[in-house]
Amino acid sequence: LPGPSLECLQAEDVARLLPHPTAESDKYRRGVLGMAVGSDRYRGAAVLAVGGAMRTGVGMVRYAGAEGVVTEVLNRWPETVASTLDPMDPLGSLPGRVAAWVVGPGRGLHPMAQAELEAVLATPQPVLADADAVTVVSKKPELVRERSAHTLLTPHAGELARLLPDTERADVEGDRLSSVARAADEYGCTVLLKGSTTVVAEPGHPAVANPTGSPLLATAGTGDVLAGVIGAFLAAGLAPREAAAAGAYVHGLAARIAHDGAAISASDLFDALPLALAEIG
Ligand code: AMP
Ligand code: MG
Repeated sequence: LPGPSLECLQAEDVARLLPHPTAESDKYRRGVLGMAVGSDRYRGAAVLAVGGAMRTGVGMVRYAGAEGVVTEVLNRWPETVASTLDPMDPLGSLPGRVAAWVVGPGRGLHPMAQAELEAVLATPQPVLADADAVTVVSKKPELVRERSAHTLLTPHAGELARLLPDTERADVEGDRLSSVARAADEYGCTVLLKGSTTVVAEPGHPAVANPTGSPLLATAGTGDVLAGVIGAFLAAGLAPREAAAAGAYVHGLAARIAHDGAAISASDLFDALPLALAEIG
C-alpha cells in the first residue's frame, strides 16, 4: 500500500490564506477567540498563547482563568477581555460571540480543566486542543470523534504517541507522516504534529509539510505561542487544515526573523510575528 501523500506548503499558498482587514472589518468580524489556557502553575503559558493570537491580528481574545493568571495576562496584554474562572460554571462569561477556541496549554489535568474541555468541545465552534487537552482527549477519544464541529489537535511527538494505541514517542519520530495521518483518521479530525518538520494531516486530504520550521524553536513556550497564532486564524474563519498550515508557516518564519545570530526565546516571537505576516504579504 502507498503511504499517505505529502505536499509542501508554498509561500504563495500562505499569502492567499492570510486574513486581511478591510473597510468593513470590525473586531467581531475579524474573529473572537475564546482561550482556556494557563493556570496558577503555568501562568506564562497564558501570556504566551494570548500573545500569539494578539500579534497575529485576532479581533478579540476572551480569556478566562485563575485570578492570578488573569492579572498576568492583563498586565502584558491589556486588550484582552478577561474574567476570573467560576469553578461552578466552566465556560462562565466566555462564550459571547466566540468564533473559535484554544484550550489546553498549561491548563493542567485536574477535574475542573477536564470539565472545561468537555464544555468547550460541546460548543458548535472549531476547537484547537493542545498540550493537556491532547492528553485528556487521548483518554476520551469520543469527545472529539463525536463532535460535528471541527477539531484541531496540535501534539508534539510525545503527545501524539499518547493518542495512538501501543505507540511510543520513538515510534512517532521513526515515522512522523504515517503517525500523524493515523491519528487524523482515528480521531476524525485535523492533526498538526509539531517538531523538526511540522506536518498537518486531515482525513481525505494530502498531508502538508511546513518548510519554515527551525530548530531555534525548540525551547519552552514556543508551542503555546503557536496555539495562539493558529487560534487567531481559526477565529478569522480559516478551515482547520489551512489555519494549522498557515500558523506553522508564520510561526517558523517569525523564529527566523527574530533570530539575529543568537538564541531566541518564545517571547521574542511577539515582535517577529507581525514582521513575518508583512513579509508574506
Ligand atoms: P511544544 O512542543 O508544544 O513546546 O512546541 C514546540 C515548538 O517548537 C513547535 O512549534 C515545534 O514544531 C517547534 N520545534 C520543536 N523542536 C523543533 C525542531 N527540532 N525543529 C524545528 N521546530 C521544532
Ligand atoms: Mg506544548
